Amino acid sequence: MVIEDDAGIGSSLERTLEGQGYEVSWSTSAAEGMSAVRPTTALVVLDLGLPDRDGLDVCRMLNAEAARPQVLILTARGEEADVVLGLDAGADDYLVKPFRLAELLARVRACTRRADGERDRFVVGDLVVDLDTRAVTIDDVPVELRPKEFDLLVALARNAGRVVRRERLLEEVWDEHWFGSTKTLDIHIWALRRKLDAPGGRSRISTVRGVGYRMDLP
Ligand code: CA
Repeated sequence: MVIEDDAGIGSSLERTLEGQGYEVSWSTSAAEGMSAVRPTTALVVLDLGLPDRDGLDVCRMLNAEAARPQVLILTARGEEADVVLGLDAGADDYLVKPFRLAELLARVRACTRRADGERDRFVVGDLVVDLDTRAVTIDDVPVELRPKEFDLLVALARNAGRVVRRERLLEEVWDEHWFGSTKTLDIHIWALRRKLDAPGGRSRISTVRGVGYRMDLP
C-alpha cells in the first residue's frame, strides 16, 4: 500500500513496485489509504505530509490494527524530529525525500522480509546472491563486487530468465530520473560478466539487442 499525495512520486512508486512483482494499491489521502488497508497488507509506504491528515496519525492508527502492517515513512521534511516522531508512532523504517528508487526497494525488501520472516536471497544455478549480507558466491566461492555491480546483479537475478529493459536497470540501479548516457550500464555489465563468467564459457548475462539484458536460467 502506497499512501502518497504527490502524483509523480506515487505513480513512480506504484510502477516500480509492480515491476518488482509486488501487488500495489496507491491512495492519495489518509482517509482513502486507511479504508484500503487490509489485514493482508504487508507494508504501507506512507508519506507524512498528506492533504487531509498528518501521516503520523495514520501511522498510529496502523500501529493499533490487529494485523499490523510494516510501515515505511517518507518524509520531505528531513528533520530528525519528524523521523523520531515517526518511529515513536510505530514506523519500522523511514526514507527522506528525495530518495533513490534503489534505496527505496532495498528498504521495502527489508520491511517485507521482516513481515514474512524470510531470508532474502536469490539462487540462480550455482550463483547465490544474499541481500542481507550483500555476499555473492559461485559454487560457494565468494565473488567481490562493487556496490553498483551488486545492485545490477540483484536487478537481473530477481528477474532471472526474463529480459530486464535498459531503462529499468538504469532507473533502479542508478537513479530515479536518469537522463545520462547508457554507457555506464554497458560498462557495469561488462564488469559483471568478467567477474561472474568462466573464462571462455557462455555468459550468464545475455544481451537482448535494443531491449536490455537477461540473466539466463541454468
Ligand atoms: Ca505529501
